[in-house]
Amino acid sequence: MKFRLSDYATHPLAIKRLHDELLKSQYWAPAQRREWVQERLERTLRHAVKNVPYYRRTLGPYESRFNEMIDRLDLSELPTLSKQDVRVHFDELCAEGTSNTEKNTVRTSGTTGTPTRFLMDRESNLHQFASMWRVLNWVGYRFGNRFVDFKADPDKRIPATYDARQNCLVFPVEHLKRDNVLLYVRAIRAFRPALIKTYPTTLNLVCHWMKELGLDDLQVKRVVCCAETLRDHHRATIEKVMRCPVYDFYAQNERAALISTCEWGRYHVHEEYSFVESPSKEVGRSAPGGSMEAVTTTFHNLAMPLIRYQTGDLVTPGDGTPCECERTYRTVGRIDGRLQDMIVAPDGRYLASLEHAFFDAPGVQMSQIVQETTAGIEVKIVKAEDFVAEDLDRVEARLRGMIGDEMVIELSLVDSIPAGENGKIPFVISKPGSQAAQDDPGAAEPSSVAGGP
Ligand SMILES: [Zn+2]
Repeated sequence: MKFRLSDYATHPLAIKRLHDELLKSQYWAPAQRREWVQERLERTLRHAVKNVPYYRRTLGPYESRFNEMIDRLDLSELPTLSKQDVRVHFDELCAEGTSNTEKNTVRTSGTTGTPTRFLMDRESNLHQFASMWRVLNWVGYRFGNRFVDFKADPDKRIPATYDARQNCLVFPVEHLKRDNVLLYVRAIRAFRPALIKTYPTTLNLVCHWMKELGLDDLQVKRVVCCAETLRDHHRATIEKVMRCPVYDFYAQNERAALISTCEWGRYHVHEEYSFVESPSKEVGRSAPGGSMEAVTTTFHNLAMPLIRYQTGDLVTPGDGTPCECERTYRTVGRIDGRLQDMIVAPDGRYLASLEHAFFDAPGVQMSQIVQETTAGIEVKIVKAEDFVAEDLDRVEARLRGMIGDEMVIELSLVDSIPAGENGKIPFVISKPGSQAAQDDPGAAEPSSVAGGP
């Protein structure tokens, strides 16, 4: 729900037309979609080698083989593009000869410690608006409906504000504390929003506090999570306390891919947004449980197209069965998080899905795993009111079962876990994992992988 309202104000008809087209194309027969995707790949690749100096250099030698690759929808012969490449070659990645009007720069938040800039053009902005509109359309939200937004907003000095332009009640996460929960609950009841949009770690914490205060009759219609991996134990807590469906969408500031849940709760790849390569052993970096790094090629931003872009995010493909919603997109089983959300064992194993260690520990309100070296991890735990000592034993036993005997596990009880500069609270902070995520894929290829249950 990152609507740039200025785009809608200046181009309402173009956005409405794009949105109407998206409402039709979601039901296209597979052959029609394949043809459309092939046309878009052709446009992107030909434009890139003709007008973008970086791609002229790196993809030019492959140009004679483009037709065959597009025909097979298999770009795996082409080199990938990393965030590091974009940082180093930003100027060379800007297309020549495109108008300087209506272009803007977006930045990634730099979770690996190194922010990256991306140039966006008008077509990309308009398509982004229409696509996000459809994400919300799928889960029953209508443009203009009231919504609540828990989000980072460091300039806000009070815990709740109303944004009339978006008809949105904003709770800046910088003010998130137990003392404000009653204020949140009263404000939400009075506002009667159509949905709550939130970081899952934030709402999970609010739900724990609501449970402790006996506040569980909020009557919210739906929750939409974004910006962080929606972990199963957070979803379970939110569903239980909010008593409503919890939806999720995955997107990035650089607009590399869009994956979101439909009204039936299954994740779909928005295939008009970008070409997300089918996970395979040859593509991207592998990770536990069959998940693979999403490698994507953008369709709508000729000012700086991303071709075989390594998102650093891990997805597990769906089981291939059609969804009840009858949309003809590929499904995704899980969004598994970022490469840097994994810890690294001394023997080179990458370990993910560590949240499973907390399923049997209802007295844990919040947790964070910090890894400085491969020798061990520190697990920070904030107690809920119903915490008992056995909660720690269960967490330690499950972690031990998942990561083996080689690593030191240090559990520590803390009063709170502060959010980072971007307002999010990472579940895992791993120096070895971050290092691997920044390295070249060849150098970061894990020698073996292992995962949670
Ligand atoms: Zn569906």
